[in-house]
Amino acid sequence: MIVVERIAELRDRCDVARRGGRNVGLVPTMGFFHEGHRSLMRAARADHDLVVTTIFVNPLQFGENEDLAGYPRDLDADTAAADAEGVDVLFVPSVPEMYPEPTVTTVHVAGLTDGLCGAARPTHFDGVTTVVAKLFSIVGPCTAYFGRKDFQQLAVVRRMVADLDLPVRVVGCPLVREPDGVAMSSRNAYLSADERLRATGIFDSLRAAAAAVEGGERDPERVRAAVEAEAARHDLELEYAEVRRASDLAPLATLDGEVVVAVASTVGKARLIDNVTMQIAGAGVATDLGVIPIAEQESTS
Ligand code: AMP
Repeated sequence: MIVVERIAELRDRCDVARRGGRNVGLVPTMGFFHEGHRSLMRAARADHDLVVTTIFVNPLQFGENEDLAGYPRDLDADTAAADAEGVDVLFVPSVPEMYPEPTVTTVHVAGLTDGLCGAARPTHFDGVTTVVAKLFSIVGPCTAYFGRKDFQQLAVVRRMVADLDLPVRVVGCPLVREPDGVAMSSRNAYLSADERLRATGIFDSLRAAAAAVEGGERDPERVRAAVEAEAARHDLELEYAEVRRASDLAPLATLDGEVVVAVASTVGKARLIDNVTMQIAGAGVATDLGVIPIAEQESTS
């Protein structure tokens, strides 16, 4: 694996690969790798000749009072993990490399970014789409892998790619959980043991939503109420609990088709997000609560 710090070098390596008939898989991240990140690298590795993973804690996507300065970082461990997953190029640009001048050009995806996380983080998605557009421009035609954990981000990136005709295929990968159901997140590092236990309530509240829908509930407000009630039982305050159409995050009058129930909650210092998707067809419901890696299952049994 090669570690690259310069934009020009990454662009050149991707161009050379494609000219030689090799395709490119891209995994954009902010580092501090866990199994969620690694699952994206494995998906990219399985289908591509040149796998590029990027680590960039992007200042543009953090609000003023957010955790940019304290965001967890461990480049040595990340380098070892990416290498172990067979990544070919690890791109670790500095902030001045990515933003040599203050950015005056911003990519804004309207509408999709208003609600859910966008309500509490009004500048967040502009930061995400701007840096992802830059990465797509640097890497060039490729397949890019994103986790379904950040469900709204995935929808926003897909829409940006469609609207701007970017030469990138976007693949959404399963949400990966800890053995106790907590969605894996670099920010879980902020949690004390007590907070960590309370965080399992987020998963339980999504399971309550799934149970309600599986039991025949089709009223989004009642499903939302089931989530809120379970969260309250765990002494969790939810920043939001939303029940939306999965494809475009539109509100629904009645649950039908592919639906997402998404929540955010701050536990201690950690702002955590999570979601469950459900495919609803008449009385039939297929629920996707994400996956727990086999190795983790075995190590706890
Ligand atoms: P981040 O480093 O948090 O910006 O995440 C980088 C990529 O990893 C994003 O596409 C995330 O959606 C994805 N990711 C983060 N956590 C998980 C998880 N628990 N399961 C699946 N994908 C994840």
